[in-house]
This record gives sequence, structure tokens and C-alpha cells, in this order.
Amino acid sequence: EGCRGLPRAAEGCRGRGRNMAASAVGSLCGPALLGAVPGAPRCPHGPALLFVKTSQGKEEGRRFYACSACRDRKDCNFFQWEDEKVSETRLAAREEYNRNHQPSFTHRQNVERYKNFVQLPLSKRRFCQECQQLLLPAEWEKHSNHQFLCDISTAQLKSPSQLLYPLENKKTNAQYLFTDRSCQFLLDLIIDLGFRRVLSVGTPRLHEMIQSNASQEEDFRVRSLLLDIDFRYSQFYTEDEFCHYNMFNHYFFGGEAAHETCRKFLHEDNGERVIMVTDPPFGGLVEALASSFKKLMSMWMETGKEGPNNQEMPMFWIFPYFFESRILEFFPSFSMMDYQVDYDNHALYKHGKTGRRQSPVRIFMNLTPSMIVLPVEEGYRFCAICQRYVSSGNQHCEICNSCTSKDGRRWKHCGLCKKCVKPSWFHCNICNCCALQTHTCEKADAGCFICGKAGHKRSACPSLSHT
Ligand code: SAH
Ligand code: ZN
Ligand code: ZN
Ligand code: ZN
Ligand code: ZN
Repeated sequence: EGCRGLPRAAEGCRGRGRNMAASAVGSLCGPALLGAVPGAPRCPHGPALLFVKTSQGKEEGRRFYACSACRDRKDCNFFQWEDEKVSETRLAAREEYNRNHQPSFTHRQNVERYKNFVQLPLSKRRFCQECQQLLLPAEWEKHSNHQFLCDISTAQLKSPSQLLYPLENKKTNAQYLFTDRSCQFLLDLIIDLGFRRVLSVGTPRLHEMIQSNASQEEDFRVRSLLLDIDFRYSQFYTEDEFCHYNMFNHYFFGGEAAHETCRKFLHEDNGERVIMVTDPPFGGLVEALASSFKKLMSMWMETGKEGPNNQEMPMFWIFPYFFESRILEFFPSFSMMDYQVDYDNHALYKHGKTGRRQSPVRIFMNLTPSMIVLPVEEGYRFCAICQRYVSSGNQHCEICNSCTSKDGRRWKHCGLCKKCVKPSWFHCNICNCCALQTHTCEKADAGCFICGKAGHKRSACPSLSHT
């Protein structure tokens, strides 16, 4: 697949486009997400999420709990029917299992280890590549059969995202790191907009860039708190800089203390404005993410804001453009920017000029579009009618009265569909909509999972890039 793996719940066929209520897809198959519910059982990744297994033609299916974070059963095989009776013995065994599946060092211990590590001379600073761990000399012996890096410099310690290898499990935790270009663009934008604090949710490279800039100009000093499920980062950051967090169930592994750290960070003292930036795995269940982000937004609200109380915490949600309708369902105030976000370790998602393909990843945000200035030297221009920056290929359509392209290419208006469509599409009279010429005609109800449009199956969705 062209994206970071599809949601597990999509293996059946859930939530096509706009249409995501569990009951509405009941006739179509596959498990659907019901969400986080109070009293849910726990796996090592925090409270499990409730799903419903729907079968052909039946409205109501059997409900079950499964791990919120791992869509690959190999990573976490937690499963429990909602109505299942779980014995005391099994509960105790489960608790024991959850305890044993926590990282071997606590965050506190890792912070202590780091303090000792930086005091070592360069020649004694080793990083075990197999265990992904900074080693203290007393531990060398134990790792003698492992590959390790030597002479770990201060610069390397300040860029852990370069030192650690990106997790590559397609389904659970694919890490795609921003190119310098995209990361610098985000940071410059954040500073220009006047934000001085960034809640970095699943954006370790942005966090790292902010941390290294922090020592520079006083006037533009920005602080960042990283929330991420990748506990390896706890080796490099204090409890005030990193919280072990699961964004699919809003779970802080560090308990109340970590919650409090986050709350304190969101409290805007000295008028330091906060923005949240998140770049979740694309396979993630949008409704689970949205529910967690709403909880982070209410944490921000509850920190005692003055002024109009109906404001939302400013947020950048980085996600592929073909999820636009899903995101807007949960956050109607959001709009999508044309800026193409690209990644270092993703061959497909490179910048238009240098990579083989255009990145489909965009920034969704709840700020006034005209405030977001996109780099003119990269071809973005300002549309005076739309009052926003658009990509060079995005032409203002007189009939739609808007710059309609989603993917950066010039779209064309279809009089019959009464809207602009992709340049490669043609109007099909059988489907009564525009689609690729090679599409197989479908009956009206069979919308595509990815874009929600009729006329093609998920596998043929023009939104997906195929190698
Ligand atoms: N482009 C970003 C990285 C995005 S990759 C950057 O360069 O900074 C997705 C990130 O989300 C990874 O850091 C990954 O560890 C994190 N992540 C994946 N699943 C998560 C979960 N359930 N909860 C919190 N973070 C998660
Ligand atoms: Zn789990
Ligand atoms: Zn326009
Ligand atoms: Zn058409
Ligand atoms: Zn057709």
C-alpha cells in the first residue's frame, strides 16, 4: 500500500469516506471501532478499545476489546469479548503480564543514566544498536556480542532521531521522519505565528529541532514537550521534555505525574502561546485519534484561559489529503493547507522537485488560512479570492469559485458532477460520476474506503500511490 498501512478495522471495510457510523456500515462487514469506554480492560499499551464485529446483513454484532496501539496481532495480541467473564486468576495473570511488558528501565532511571553518560569521556560513550540503548561501561560486557556505535558526541545525543533507527513495523509503528526542509518550514511557521510552546505529539524530529534551537536566540525561544509511544526517547529527555504517551487512547504511561507535566506545559504563563503539532501513523483510526486530540484540547481549555472561552487550542494535524473529509467530520473548524510535507525515509513521499512522486501529506489546522505563508520559492502563490496560499498547479476555478486541487496538480471542472475532479478522471455515465478510465463500474453503494467516492475499489483508489 502507498500509505503507512491501513487501519485494522478497514480490513473488512469500515467507515467509507464520510460515512462512518458503525450502524451505517453494519451490512458491509469487518470490525468497526466504537471507541474508548470507561472500565475497559488493559493491555501493556493502556486501556483497550471497544470494537464491534459486524457480519453480513446484521446490524448488531458482537463487541470485543483489542489493543489500541497495535494493529498487528504479532505486536500485541490482546483480545477480549465485551461480555466475556474473566476469572480472578486470569485477571491477575494479565496484570502480571502487563507489568512484565513495560520497559526494563523507568524514565527516571534513564534520566539518571543519561547524566552519567554525558560525564564519560568520548572514548567511553557507546550506543548499542541492537538494544537501542546508551551503554554505561559496566554494561559493555553484557552487550559484547552486539553491534555498537562508539564516540557518541554531544551533537548525536541532541539528535536522537538520527541515532535511533526508525521503527519500521508497517502496521503498528512506522516512523517517517521529516526532511530538514519540512521540519524547518514547520518551525519557522510556528515562530512567525508567535507561538512559544509546542506540544509535539508523535513528532520527535520537530521536538529535537526545537530543543537544539532553544539554546539560540533568546527572543524566539520556543519550548517543546514530546508525547510519543516510542519509549527509546526517554533516554535523551527529562520528564519535563518527554512523556510516554499513547495517542490512540490518550494514555499517559507515567500516570498522574505525567498528566500533570502535560497540564503544566499547556498552561500559558507569561502569555507564551501553545500550539499542538501531530503527525500520527497514517494507518491510525481517525476517530480514535480525534477523540484523544479533543481530550488534549480540553486539557488546554481547563488551564484557566482568559478571554473568549469558545476557542480551540491551535493545532497542526499532519495527514494525507485523502483523509480530509474524515478529519473535518471531527474537526469542522479545520482546513487543509496545500503545503507538501515530505519525509527522509520514505521513498514515495519526497518533495515534488526531487523525489519521484508528490507527497500526499498535508497540514490540517484551525488557524485562519491567510495567516499561513507558504514558500514562494517552492512555487506556492497567494490566491486573493480564496485568501490562502496554494500550490503552483492549483488553479482557481471560476465555476467552483475556489482553488480546488487537493494533490497539487491542475484539476478540471466537470459540468455533470458540478465540481472539479482529478485531471486523469473522465465522467462515466454508468457510475454517474467521474473516475479513472480504467475503473470497473460499481453499483452506487460501493464507495471506495479511502476517498469515499463511488466508481472504484480501495485497491484502485487514485489517492493511493502504488510502486
Ligand atoms: N514526522 C515525524 C514522525 C512521524 S512518525 C517527525 O519527523 O518528527 C509517527 C510518530 O508517531 C512516531 O514518532 C511514532 O513513534 C509515534 N507513534 C506511533 N504510534 C503511536 C501511539 N500509539 N501513540 C503515540 N505515538 C505514536
Ligand atoms: Zn497492546
Ligand atoms: Zn482560489
Ligand atoms: Zn463528472
Ligand atoms: Zn463507471
